[in-house]
Amino acid sequence: MARFPIPGRPGGPPGAERPDRPFTGYKLARAVLSADCAKTAFAGLTLGAERVYGVTAEASCVWTPRHAPPRRWCGCGFYCLHELADAQALGCATENRSALLIEVAASGRYIRYERGLRYSRQRVRVISGCWCDCGNPGTALTDAGTGLVGWRHLSPICDRCSVGRRALRLAEFAALLDGRVQVETPSGISDTGAPEPVPSQAGESPYAVLSAEIALLHARLDDLQSRLDR
Ligand SMILES: [Zn+2]
Ligand SMILES: [Zn+2]
Repeated sequence: MARFPIPGRPGGPPGAERPDRPFTGYKLARAVLSADCAKTAFAGLTLGAERVYGVTAEASCVWTPRHAPPRRWCGCGFYCLHELADAQALGCATENRSALLIEVAASGRYIRYERGLRYSRQRVRVISGCWCDCGNPGTALTDAGTGLVGWRHLSPICDRCSVGRRALRLAEFAALLDGRVQVETPSGISDTGAPEPVPSQAGESPYAVLSAEIALLHARLDDLQSRLDR
């Protein structure tokens, strides 16, 4: 996989770069609610699935306290994608269906990949969307039936499916976070109780379902290979 400089983004050698200003990125995160229902936060999906983070967070290595992320030969640190469409595509994968799509400002130390960044510091800016199991845009969050010690996982749910269920509106979820985060209202939903039909197969083409995290790992392997070739 060839790696080209991305137009409009600062160039420079790979490795421990520091941006002049934060990058805007897109990623998926799990919504979580504290055991006493007083606080909300986010959790990772794969590598960082056991780590709960707030609106601003500093990454720590999941394997060792002896280095600070992102370390080149380690997979640690936060990940984000440059393009919203890539994060939306990642959200189509079965295991990511209950994730929130979020926009972040990435800063601190970072390593750049073709499609995204691995970095040390993050601020969550916007909750950009989520989907109910039924295919409608999510408007609230409900207990997912799983969790971590001290935190319940939450799953998105739409107005229609949340009738009679205990659920937190997205704005209520945001209000319980430890900082200010904007919530984008889902489009394509009607307040008349008759949600607009969602086209079947929306975004579900096998071609659209790419795993961006795997793309990032491939980029790392390419990088390793190019170093070995030298
Ligand atoms: Zn590490
Ligand atoms: Zn629904």
